[in-house]
Amino acid sequence: MAGKTALIVYAHQSPSSFNAAAKDAAVQTLTAQGYKVLVSDLYTMKFQPSATAADIKGDLKDPEHFVYNDEACAAWKEGRLSDDIKEEHNKLLEADLVIFQFPMYWFSVPGIMKGWIDRVLTQGFAFSLQNMYDNGIFKDKKALLSFTTGGPESMYLPDGINGDINIMLYPLQSGVLHFCGFQVLAPQIFWSVAHTPPDARKALLQAWQTRLKGIMEEQPLSFAPTELFDLTFQGGFRLRPEVKEARAVQPYGLTPGHHLGKRLPPDNQTKPAPRD
Ligand SMILES: Cc1cc2nc3c(=O)[nH]c(=O)nc-3n(C[C@H](O)[C@H](O)[C@H](O)COP(=O)(O)OP(=O)(O)OC[C@H]3O[C@@H](n4cnc5c(N)ncnc54)[C@H](O)[C@@H]3O)c2cc1C
Repeated sequence: MAGKTALIVYAHQSPSSFNAAAKDAAVQTLTAQGYKVLVSDLYTMKFQPSATAADIKGDLKDPEHFVYNDEACAAWKEGRLSDDIKEEHNKLLEADLVIFQFPMYWFSVPGIMKGWIDRVLTQGFAFSLQNMYDNGIFKDKKALLSFTTGGPESMYLPDGINGDINIMLYPLQSGVLHFCGFQVLAPQIFWSVAHTPPDARKALLQAWQTRLKGIMEEQPLSFAPTELFDLTFQGGFRLRPEVKEARAVQPYGLTPGHHLGKRLPPDNQTKPAPRD
């Protein structure tokens, strides 16, 4: 993988945590494979998570009515974003693979990582109405979520008390990563690490390292193809009527979001679709 760059966006406070071990394992394995590895260690960097006017250098376009997206997009075009955002932009531009390494907080990412998403995936730089989903700006890049949970896998099954993990993953994997065009690889989930025996934890890290060796050859997860939608304001960006009609006889919806009132496609956000 010489010539390839991996960016690890990492959020854990403790260097002795399992998340730190998973991050270190990825750095070691990818480096040994010939990747250049960049790490954004958000807590160590004291990454500022709030999207505010402080992100914009120079005069605001409309100081009376501050609209973050509009001001940040204009500042990006004119090179007036704050230096910390620019640095993350440069890392992202260089990356072929982006790994988000974090402990699950409230069914999502820790706030500091949500702040990275809010501030770094700037409108214009990371997405636009013309460039989203299959036509997204980062369509030549791959990304994956690698995270630990407190609860065991059984709690995250469709009949488990927390509900189906596929539904929890959809906002991040579809609404953030695929929206920006990323080819999203299956998540790496380390279930309930604190209640896993030490030897089993070591085996989990070894399996992660083995997976990373072939990560760029993996088939991405499948999302609703953008071409199925009427991409006009008049059409409301909705599924084309003929597509809806054709789906009527299918037992499953397209994704957890585009369920069409049907059963969710099993494992849609955790496994790539089987090849035809
Ligand atoms: C605000 C908040 C919200 C939360 N929300 C949720 C939620 O919605 N759902 C949920 O399921 N959980 C939730 N949790 C729990 C959280 O997800 C877990 O505590 C976290 O995922 C555990 O990961 P860790 O890296 O912190 O584990 P650690 O406690 O750091 O590590 C687990 C064990 O692995 C050991 N370890 C470290 N390095 C290695 C190594 N190299 N080899 C082998 N073992 C090693 C550690 O010593 C430790 O014994 C939440 C927690 C917080 C604080």
